[in-house]
Amino acid sequence: MDEFIGTFAVNINLKHKQLMQRKQTISTFYTDKQVCFDSIREHSYSQSPLKPYLLMQKIERSELQTHFEVHSDFPPFKQEEFLLAHTEEYVSNFFNKTGNYRSNGIPWSENLATSVTYTNSAIYHAIKHSLEHPDQLCFAPVSGMHHARPTSGQGFCTFSGQVIASLKLYDELGVSGAWLDLDGHFGNSIEDSRGFDPRINKAIPWDCNVNPIGYNEKYLQDFKFKLERVKRRILEGKVHYVVFAHGADSHIDDDLGGQCDTAHWIACAELFSTWVNEVSLEIGKPLPVTLALFGGYRKDDYNIVLDLHLASIERCRSIMCEVTEAQAA
Ligand SMILES: [Zn+2]
Repeated sequence: MDEFIGTFAVNINLKHKQLMQRKQTISTFYTDKQVCFDSIREHSYSQSPLKPYLLMQKIERSELQTHFEVHSDFPPFKQEEFLLAHTEEYVSNFFNKTGNYRSNGIPWSENLATSVTYTNSAIYHAIKHSLEHPDQLCFAPVSGMHHARPTSGQGFCTFSGQVIASLKLYDELGVSGAWLDLDGHFGNSIEDSRGFDPRINKAIPWDCNVNPIGYNEKYLQDFKFKLERVKRRILEGKVHYVVFAHGADSHIDDDLGGQCDTAHWIACAELFSTWVNEVSLEIGKPLPVTLALFGGYRKDDYNIVLDLHLASIERCRSIMCEVTEAQAA
């Protein structure tokens, strides 16, 4: 009997390990085409249009390089795909350099116009990949989305990539998602789009645009509370994937934001990843997860922004993808 119980326990542990086990590399949706090099360094307050390139360069030069598996062959969005979240007038204005084409606050260039067709596509393809391969942690190094509105850009954001991605996935696969937006600023895109296309209420339920509030410990507690609500949605079968956008402007020393010191900022990544492991065990398969960048502003040293993003991504990867026997037990 004892032997039977022992075997049973070993089988349970093995099963837990299999459920939680993910590939150790991060499926990363990146191409240089999603970067705007033109006029950003000299003429843009926000360096975010350059950030995917700067971050990937940093990764390539570091020992973390082997942790990233880059997918570059995804197609850009066509102009009509932006109509899912925006008016014809705004989409036409932006691409034709007329009317409110500068409402995003970023210097316009052909390069910028091309790059946003790739950033918005990158987040969509990363999430889609996470749904098709839940055992692979996915990553889209993108920013400049969560303030865009149906009729204009806003706050360094051109188009609502998260709204477009979630609506497309809802249409194509019937799935819904949760956006864990830990940028230092409220992600208004999703809320502003609910009236524009009510299907967004199904694609991203009302309590699944998560923007924690407070400072340090209170911020962490609020994030934890809101994660529990998302977990209930997942267990009800109403949410099928999550996106963790750990904006570096929620760090206390950021020029434009600041909710968490370094310890609490990293603790958010740890809380999220541990929660993912717990939810995965409860649903009996790895929860599809995609990481994104969002904001981060440091005039004195932009490397600090890049280092924060990398630290968060590496913490997430290590907790979700390197499950030990002890954790699995
Ligand atoms: Zn921000």
